[in-house]
Amino acid sequence: MIAENLKTVQKKIEEAKTRGAHSAKDVTLIAVSKTNPIPDLKEAYDAGAREYGENRVQELCEKIPELPEDIRWHLIGHLQKNKVKYIVDQVVLIHSVDSFELAEEIEKQAVKKNVDVSVLIEVNMGGEESKFGCKPEDTLELARRISVLPHVHVKGLMTVAPFVEDPEENRPVFREMRELSVDIDKENIDNISMGVLSMGMTGDYEVAVEEGATMVRVGTGIFGERNYNLGV
Ligand SMILES: *Cc1c(COP(=O)(O)O)cnc(C)c1O
Repeated sequence: MIAENLKTVQKKIEEAKTRGAHSAKDVTLIAVSKTNPIPDLKEAYDAGAREYGENRVQELCEKIPELPEDIRWHLIGHLQKNKVKYIVDQVVLIHSVDSFELAEEIEKQAVKKNVDVSVLIEVNMGGEESKFGCKPEDTLELARRISVLPHVHVKGLMTVAPFVEDPEENRPVFREMRELSVDIDKENIDNISMGVLSMGMTGDYEVAVEEGATMVRVGTGIFGERNYNLGV
């Protein structure tokens, strides 16, 4: 089932790429494995998945030693400053930097561990109160501030679009996100790149790819409905 789902999602991404005027040449599928048990992650691995996304630091740290070393782990959920030290040298990309204070803590821990850390700035494109992320109009300024931190490297933007029944409703959100990244890119800020656009989830990843996503984060569409009671 998981193997089949993975194939289906990959196929749909390829198809979406051919439809979008702004779609990226390479789109990375991140298998969002939060709440899913280790055997399911192994099944996805055997089917070819190598990029995994988790949203909780503790769960991430428990899963990493249980799985093959060539997996590239992404932290996609909100990150508290006191948890940064556990993951700076464990993940390939932190998708959820939304304040200078958090970036500063990442810098501090990166120095201690002698690593460079790639991050995305999380933008709250939909303006929803309940969501993390910096405001679109504050993103450029935040990027400028983070750019001076020598061990923190902004690689692009991430957004969690509103939950909608019809994915078309999120098309303008994804479009604005791409436009924002193009605008920031034009500023040519040292140590800032806008190559990554992490947007699109199970319900709307095809639209996101059409609008230029370079990373999509798909959980339910690969692993099935999450059961939050299982624990990990
Ligand atoms: C859970 C989660 C996803 C995946 O959600 P699905 O709808 O199951 O695909 C993507 N991004 C973030 C930040 C998440 O927390």
